[in-house]
Amino acid sequence: MCKNRILPFGKTLKSYLKEHGEKRPNISLCCPDKSCKKRTLYKHGRYYRWATTKYQCILIPIYRWYCPLCGKTISLFPNFLIPWARVVTTSREAAFNRRRKGDSFEKISKSIVSPAIGGISATTIKRWWNRYLAQIGRTSIWVAGRLIHFGEEEDLLRLHSKGVNSTTLDTLKWFYFLLQKYVQKFQFNPSLMGYLSFLNTHLPADLRL
Ligand SMILES: [Zn+2]
Repeated sequence: MCKNRILPFGKTLKSYLKEHGEKRPNISLCCPDKSCKKRTLYKHGRYYRWATTKYQCILIPIYRWYCPLCGKTISLFPNFLIPWARVVTTSREAAFNRRRKGDSFEKISKSIVSPAIGGISATTIKRWWNRYLAQIGRTSIWVAGRLIHFGEEEDLLRLHSKGVNSTTLDTLKWFYFLLQKYVQKFQFNPSLMGYLSFLNTHLPADLRL
């Protein structure tokens, strides 16, 4: 069985390659399986996968760990990438922001990955966007839950503009409202790498964006 975690090392593709292009992050991981009682994982090789930014398409190493008790393998992702996407998270977020402002998929596709390295199709951007919208409600609820856990006293659900009859776009507005509060709790400044690269290091795997 294979799992993955996203940890905050490698803020950018460039810094990740510099630090970990050849060298495994020097961290110790425990097995996430409760029955393994925090057993320390063994180092377990690496594999390579593509990461695409606007102007570059590069193979990067993904380091793995292995639990000798249950046999699970954990792959560690840098925070600029999520397992199912080839394009870095900041670029995907830029596409989402442009779509929120009403740009067409066709127009967005021309600015996300340079045609010089193969570009990206409008269909792919549309697929990302639909996946994003399908998930935004559940992820928002998770973020609201964390804020309440941190002692947020505002009635966060009430601040969802249209309440129970909301449209997806209302939920998107609410999501960005929650995100601003969330990053403040961590004194994280989203101006450098956006919200999603940061949030993905915290989210459960099925809620990552
Ligand atoms: Zn285990």
